[in-house]
Amino acid sequence: APKPDPIVIADKVHRHFGGLTAVDVDHFEVQRGAITALIGPNGAGKSTFFNLLTGFDKPQRGDWLFNGNSLKGVSPAKVARAGKVRTFQLTKALSRMTVIENMRLGAADQSGENFFVAFVPALWKAREEEITAKAHVLLKRFKLYEKKDEFAGSLSGGQRKLLEMARALMSDPEMVMLDEPMAGVNPALTESLLDHIVKLKNEGVTVLFVEHDMHMVRRISDWVVVMAQGQIIAEGPPESVMLNPQVQEAYLGA
Ligand code: ADP
Ligand code: MG
Repeated sequence: APKPDPIVIADKVHRHFGGLTAVDVDHFEVQRGAITALIGPNGAGKSTFFNLLTGFDKPQRGDWLFNGNSLKGVSPAKVARAGKVRTFQLTKALSRMTVIENMRLGAADQSGENFFVAFVPALWKAREEEITAKAHVLLKRFKLYEKKDEFAGSLSGGQRKLLEMARALMSDPEMVMLDEPMAGVNPALTESLLDHIVKLKNEGVTVLFVEHDMHMVRRISDWVVVMAQGQIIAEGPPESVMLNPQVQEAYLGA
């Protein structure tokens, strides 16, 4: 087995809503360069934990590190900058932008570096051309090039997921996090989404994705972490996790 090299480490992360403990995770790691799946029955706390890791929500207790830097109390934008982490979210506002405009936005929220460039028109133009060229390459890869001037809102559910992924790649992230990337996607596109995730890994990107269906994750995941009732109840390679009686019970009991 390769030497552990965690890109994310979370400890004692706790989030409750009133009397309901949604997340009570003692320890969690994501290994660099691997595909990690976070699975569990509905209501297990997966999305709540995901939102804590990405900075979209704040825990009552706990701390987590990205590349050794604490991300506690850090906004999603800063998480993205500090860690070069990207999540996939397509909001309503973005539906009213075209596919190519969405892609440009993916490059823009890299921020910081553009401060100097923005004040030098020649550099600005070169940067624009670079961004457009990169967007075109990615749109072709995700079979969205023909749709580049259409509104994102007019895309099918599956195509939106592909756009979210393509847009995230505009900033060369070190890690991507996806909450149920396959949800609402028709089966014909599911395989293609899985292949894109594998391709990310082959390019050295660390992937963490949340998924309800354990059979969906088996083919592509290096490591599976199982949550139930807010806690991590098992983890390991896909085959052994799926045979774990505690895991089967958690799914049946849900
Ligand atoms: P999963 O993504 O695994 O299906 P969630 O993280 O969405 O689970 O939910 C975990 C638990 O926390 C559920 O019982 C859910 O009802 C509760 N919960 C999630 N978000 C909130 C919230 N904003 N307010 C109150 N309860 C919530
Ligand atoms: Mg969820």
